[in-house]
Amino acid sequence: MSFSFDAKFEVAKSSLPDKLCCAKAELSALFRTCGQLNLEKGSYSIELVTELPNLFPRINGLIKLIKPEFDELTLTKEERQNHSIRYHIGIPVSISKDLLLDCFVFRSFSEGEFEQIEGISRQLVENECCAKSYIKGAFLGCASANIVIKDINDLKKHTGGYHLEFVFNSQNLANDFIHLLSSQGIPAKIMQRKKLWVDYIKEAELVSDLLALVGANNAVLTLQNEFAVREVRNQLNRQLNCLNSNISKMVEASIKQIDAIEYISKTVGLETLSPTLYELCLLRLANPEETYENLAKLMTEPLTKSGVNHRLRKIVKIANDLKQNAEQDEKNDEQENQQTKEIKETEIKEEKTQEKREPEFPVMEDFGNWK
Ligand SMILES: [Zn+2]
Repeated sequence: MSFSFDAKFEVAKSSLPDKLCCAKAELSALFRTCGQLNLEKGSYSIELVTELPNLFPRINGLIKLIKPEFDELTLTKEERQNHSIRYHIGIPVSISKDLLLDCFVFRSFSEGEFEQIEGISRQLVENECCAKSYIKGAFLGCASANIVIKDINDLKKHTGGYHLEFVFNSQNLANDFIHLLSSQGIPAKIMQRKKLWVDYIKEAELVSDLLALVGANNAVLTLQNEFAVREVRNQLNRQLNCLNSNISKMVEASIKQIDAIEYISKTVGLETLSPTLYELCLLRLANPEETYENLAKLMTEPLTKSGVNHRLRKIVKIANDLKQNAEQDEKNDEQENQQTKEIKETEIKEEKTQEKREPEFPVMEDFGNWK
C-alpha cells in the first residue's frame, strides 16, 4: 500500500477521542471532507465515502460518543474501483440533521430553520484538543501524500519530494483550514485545482510534524528513517562522484606524463634531464598508477608529494617545449621548401619565356648567316 494509505489506516485505527468536544470536531471534519449531503423529501441524510476499511468502525464509535442511544450503523455498499475499494457509509435520516447541528456543519437561526456554516465554525475548534481532532478528521477524510518510500538497498538517487495535501471543495473551508494548521505551527500553502481547493505542505519536516500531530507515529518513524536513508544515499553518491572524478583526474595526468616522458626519450633522450628528473621519469614509467605520495617515497632521495607534482609538471613542460620547437622547425622547413619551390617555378617560367622569345630576338651569331 502507499505511504499515505498506511498513515491514514494507522490514524483510523488509533483510539477514539476521550472528550465529546473532540469527537464532534473530528466527525465534523469527516462530514465536510468525505461526506455528501442528500436532501430527500425535505430530510437530510449523509453518506461518507472512503477507501479506508477501518474508517467505518471509527465513525460508528464517534457517533456512539455523541449519540449513545443510537444503534450501530450499517455499511451501505462497497464499490470496486481499479485496484481499490471504496466504502460508502450511510448515516440515516433519523440522526443526520441532529448530528450536522451538533457538529457545527449546520447552524439553526430560528425555530426549526437552519443553514450550512461556511468554512469552519470557531466554536468547534476553539479548544486546542478540538483543533487537533478537526485536523485528524480532515486527514482521514481528504489528505493524500506523494511520498515514495524506497527500498534501503536501492542506491539510485532520490528525486521525489515530500508533498502532502488536503483537498476541499470549498474555498472558505480551505482558507479556514490553513489558519487552523498555522495555529498548530504548520504553515501550509493553498492552490486551486479546477473546482477544488488544495492546502499543501512540501517541507519534509512539516510533513513529519503534521503526521505526529494526527497521531500517525509509525508513519513519522518511516519518514524519519527515509530522511536518514536519503541523506546517507546522497552523501554516498556525492563521495562516489568525487572519488570517480579524482581517479579520472589522476589517470588523465599520468597518461599525459607518460606521453611526455616517451616524447623526451625518443627526441633528445632522457639522459639529457637532471638526475632527479631522470629517476622520476623511470619511476613513473614503471608505476603508471602510483600516487604522487608513493612516487615520492620510491625516490632514492625521498621528495615531498608536492615536490613530485612540481617535477612531473616540469617534465610535461619540457616535452611541450620540445614539441613546440619541433612544430616551429617543421613550419620553417615548410616555408623554406615553399620559397625554394617558388624560386624554381619562377626560374622555369623565365626560361620558358626566353625560349619563346628566341625566334623574335635571334642571337647575334645568326646575323652573320643572313649576310
Ligand atoms: Zn476537544
